[in-house]
Amino acid sequence: MSNRKTDTEQIRAANRAEVISALRVYGPVARVDIGRITGLSPATVTAITSELAEHNIIQEVQAPRESSGRGRPRVMIDLNPDKASVLGLKLSINELRLMLGDLKGNIISEAVVAVRTLDQDAESLNAVLLKEAEHFLAQHPGHQQLLVSAGIAIQGFVDAHQGNVVWSPALSVKHINLTNHLQRHLGCPVELANDANCIAYAVQMQQQYVECRDFIVVMLGYGVGGSLIMNGELYTGHLGAAAEFGHTKYSHDGPQCACGKRGCIEAYVSDYALYRDASAIMNLPATDRRHPSEKQMQKLTELARTGNEAARELFAQSGRVLGYGIANMLALMSPERVVVTGPGVRAYDLLEDGVREGIRNALVNELSSGTAIEHLPWSEDMTGKGIIALALKHFG
Ligand SMILES: [Zn+2]
Repeated sequence: MSNRKTDTEQIRAANRAEVISALRVYGPVARVDIGRITGLSPATVTAITSELAEHNIIQEVQAPRESSGRGRPRVMIDLNPDKASVLGLKLSINELRLMLGDLKGNIISEAVVAVRTLDQDAESLNAVLLKEAEHFLAQHPGHQQLLVSAGIAIQGFVDAHQGNVVWSPALSVKHINLTNHLQRHLGCPVELANDANCIAYAVQMQQQYVECRDFIVVMLGYGVGGSLIMNGELYTGHLGAAAEFGHTKYSHDGPQCACGKRGCIEAYVSDYALYRDASAIMNLPATDRRHPSEKQMQKLTELARTGNEAARELFAQSGRVLGYGIANMLALMSPERVVVTGPGVRAYDLLEDGVREGIRNALVNELSSGTAIEHLPWSEDMTGKGIIALALKHFG
């Protein structure tokens, strides 16, 4: 009997999470639309929405009148954004971004602080994260009380199951835990994820992707990241570190990658690789070797766009390498879509032909033609929204 009860409770919890997530993506919606979106029966929708309304998690909002102005205004329901708050932290080289999110998944406040990430050991980094998180939350006293969870994103290899950073270009230390200390002191669950996987959460929240069950997100920028959504779920693998697309190989003796090996896709396609290769053949201002600035990358992109042939060919070659990498993913995974995003899509017009050529050269048409390859314009908000979505997994 007890097992059966557990099953029923689990199904109810899963249905409740589904309604909350439908409202987060589509809200405000009419009650009847929730059934259509989730496939749940009207009776189940009524039971769940009544319970959520009782706990003030959802609220009724009035939809604007039809343009004819006749008839009663339709009553819609939506999540009550002020019911809970989550904290998001994004750690990158020498920078910590702090964000406060509401129950709808919106970022309602953010701050950026300089942190010398490469000089920290495990203990000092955990202390800095807690100090900055507490300072930030203290500036938002109302939300501090509503805090239900937190999420941290960092570039590099992350063991999401254990909350450990295995290796990150933002840190000098390896194998450090970033969740236990914060969790203990904030008194709420803390999730850790690779930044590319956070972007996959943000993509998954967009209406045009929410029903897509199998897709790959490729993130271009200071590094090259990847995420796999399989059967509607993020696939993190046995060690929680899938899918390190940027460190799959293009050539066994290719250029040096930030990970220490040679010939990774990232060593051809990332910002630092493009800037390094461009600097070898043209006169460019000196830069931080591991992290050329956005402005410098935009200048390089502009140079190629305005007819510098060497720069153009560099982007085209980078696109071809990316195409070979994507072709390998297509052969392995057969996804419905590949979504290329990240700051590096600033140059997608220069990469695209190369990407298609690379895929065409690498893969028989039968294995590639069923997958749409598309790019999504980038905004810095994407990682933030993904971190907030990651933290909100605890509220469903
Ligand atoms: Zn690598």
